[in-house]
Amino acid sequence: MSDTPRPVALVTGGSRGIGRAVVETLARDGHDVALCFQSNEQAGEIAAKAAAAHGARTLARRVDVTDRAAVAGFVRETEDTLGPVDVLVTAAGIVRDGHLAMMADEDWDAVLRTNLDGTYNFVKALAFPMMKQRRGTVITLSSVAAEGHATQTNYSASKAGIIGLTKAFAKEAGRASIRANVVAPGFIGTDMTGGLSEKHVREMTRRIPLGRFGEPHEVAELVSFLAGPRASYITGQVFAIDGGLVV
Ligand code: NAP
Repeated sequence: MSDTPRPVALVTGGSRGIGRAVVETLARDGHDVALCFQSNEQAGEIAAKAAAAHGARTLARRVDVTDRAAVAGFVRETEDTLGPVDVLVTAAGIVRDGHLAMMADEDWDAVLRTNLDGTYNFVKALAFPMMKQRRGTVITLSSVAAEGHATQTNYSASKAGIIGLTKAFAKEAGRASIRANVVAPGFIGTDMTGGLSEKHVREMTRRIPLGRFGEPHEVAELVSFLAGPRASYITGQVFAIDGGLVV
């Protein structure tokens, strides 16, 4: 057995969907993993167990990404329990779709707070520790919807904001050997897309050159590549993973 410590990854929204697949893949690829979720304790525990099966030390906590004090507490607990964080993946996200003219202000606020502020809260909490240790990589989850999807003004704005945040942070933190990249999925089969009507799924599938929705593990493979040393000269980039939808 090697004595080299496993790098530590922190994954938001790690209980379900893409985040859950990222937790398992990073554990498989040699990381210890802390994950947080909003409310689904059982799913959080199952994700942590799946990571532990790959030999990872794990920490699973209910932490609302919009709550700055809770985020700071979770980062501290991760550092105390698993060690300094090497990899941050921000996968927590929600949708509240509807036409802008009809949109409830609460739906705008909830999506911006969770997706954009939630990403900021974690990058902010880890920026200084990563700069001090002169090591770290950040992978944020945006979406092809960042280009602007009808009925998703709130979601599109939040996901475009994440791209700006990540690129700007990559420029600020590169001198401290920190990399930051964006993964922008198309349609991936998770609970988030599970609510789409059959008609919508058929229409979207027709527009995807590969002719199907993606799987969470396919996104997780890209995230794990970007997190690791094989991506050592890649920063400030946006990687679409969408079966060719946006070409
Ligand atoms: P999902 O299956 O709905 O899972 C969402 C995850 O985020 C869950 O773990 C959930 O926790 C967590 N979460 C939500 N709000 C939170 C909060 N306030 N604080 C902490 N955790 C919170 O979503 P997904 O499809 O895997 O999406 C993951 C990311 O990829 C999102 O950022 C999404 O916008 C992005 N994305 C997804 C697709 C797609 O087609 N699925 C496409 C493009 C981009 P609980 O389990 O406790 O609810």
